[in-house]
Amino acid sequence: MTKILIIGGGYAGFYTARTLEKLLNKGEAEVTLVDARPYLTYQPFLPEVAAGSIEPRHVLVPHRRHLKTTQVVNAKVTGISNADKQVTVQAEGGEPYTLAYDVLVVTLGAVSRTFPIPGIADNAIGLKSVEEAEWIRNKVTTNFDRAANLPAGPERQRLLTFVVVGGGFAGIEGFAEVRGLATKLLKHYPEITEDELQFHLIEAADRIMPEVSLETAKWVIADLAKRHATVHLETQVTSAVDGVVETSKGDKFPTDVIIWTAGQMANPVLRNSDLPLEPRGRLRLRADLRATDDDGIIEGVWGAGDSTQVPDVTGNGLPFDGSCVPNAQHAVRQARRLGKNIVASLRGDQPVDYVHKPAGAVAGLGVGNGVFTGGKKKFALKGGIAWLFHRGYHGLAIPTWERKWRVFGDWWHQIWLGRDIATTTHVQNPRAFFEEFASRPKPKPADDAKPAEAKAEKAADKKAEKPAEAKAEKAADKKAEPQADDAK
Ligand SMILES: Cc1cc2nc3c(=O)[nH]c(=O)nc-3n(C[C@H](O)[C@H](O)[C@H](O)COP(=O)(O)OP(=O)(O)OC[C@H]3O[C@@H](n4cnc5c(N)ncnc54)[C@H](O)[C@@H]3O)c2cc1C
Repeated sequence: MTKILIIGGGYAGFYTARTLEKLLNKGEAEVTLVDARPYLTYQPFLPEVAAGSIEPRHVLVPHRRHLKTTQVVNAKVTGISNADKQVTVQAEGGEPYTLAYDVLVVTLGAVSRTFPIPGIADNAIGLKSVEEAEWIRNKVTTNFDRAANLPAGPERQRLLTFVVVGGGFAGIEGFAEVRGLATKLLKHYPEITEDELQFHLIEAADRIMPEVSLETAKWVIADLAKRHATVHLETQVTSAVDGVVETSKGDKFPTDVIIWTAGQMANPVLRNSDLPLEPRGRLRLRADLRATDDDGIIEGVWGAGDSTQVPDVTGNGLPFDGSCVPNAQHAVRQARRLGKNIVASLRGDQPVDYVHKPAGAVAGLGVGNGVFTGGKKKFALKGGIAWLFHRGYHGLAIPTWERKWRVFGDWWHQIWLGRDIATTTHVQNPRAFFEEFASRPKPKPADDAKPAEAKAEKAADKKAEKPAEAKAEKAADKKAEPQADDAK
């Protein structure tokens, strides 16, 4: 049977596996999906997780529950040798081993891209995983708890200052959603006033959200300003040492929370492969999603999603190379096309080019607020109606009905019960509570410290020994000896 190996079970990998499950006949091919995590993360919901509007687990789609016939391997891909048709993987705590394939599907996604700015690697956090989003939610609430106990001063101000770097979709959504959470928290913290909160978003370009029109982007900045959340355009972070964010404009913001969303890059594991990559490290693909190099098609290697360079044949691609914009809209559609193309080529048919004209872009900016742009940025909706559209679209877009229900359930509860401000910060150190009160064996006295006491203890131990039991143990050991030899 043909062995199809999908590396990466996010948007693109998961949907490729589902499409193959639907289309392949029994015995036609065997499909394996490898991912370092046992679930797909629905990243568009991470800002709402950070804001406490959606429960963290609900934005994860477990592979083993929702893939029926695909074999799932929970391990990290560490290298790819297409010459040997094998991928090296390593499970947590295990030794590296290889998985052989006939057909390879590369869907490894992207990771946060940072620059060597002092202090960023040590003090900032990204917004690409559920762990990061939950950490932000916990941190904001815990900082309110800590600040409420402090007198006015630099430490209290530091705890109530939040900085986001990067004014793309993810950064603006994260910024606005966390600002919304802070507004809600104020109701429960009479010790803290709104003017004590500082929210700063730092963007190097002269505008935010390139996916929407300039007018809409300006509206978003003005709307955030009304909520005391400042967007600093044409500004760069120059340092974040000890959590003090310094900017190219000379500002200094001591803070406990720096969220880095200023760019992403193709998964660096691809560099540890013999696959054809373009200069930015993405897998080079043709429009039919087959890998290619200067000499032509690389047989048996396919790809989709953020880790790949797919030509956008509609002419709506990235300005520098015309490839598809890295987003979920493309990843899911490419995956469906990819599944169909792989099956077609197994059956001797020709693969078809991937074609999709983006329908528009929609962003949530906190409960009751959002923006939507469509029709080549000519049409825009703002405020409550765009927010409803955002919730409707993404609520239906998260894979599987089981997950949709959970997310809609969270929103329903939020309407009637309000946002959940409970924190799980201490889950980072779950044994602390048990350990605090657990009794430990008394330390044995040192040999020369208390000789009399030690002697008495020895005598007591001897008394306690049960000669019959010891005899029985000895006899059992003797019996077991020949068996051990047999095993040898
Ligand atoms: C905060 C945020 C908001 C967003 N909002 C939107 C939006 O509103 N609309 C939109 O269209 N797009 C949005 N996106 C973008 C969208 O989520 C991505 O474009 C999409 O997830 C790309 O899919 P993918 O399958 O290529 O990568 P991913 O979904 O990132 O999947 C990659 C998978 O590979 C796995 N993996 C990585 N490395 C390894 C390894 N070494 N070994 C094994 N497995 C590995 C990962 O665990 C992951 O499961 C948003 C992204 C973010 C971060």
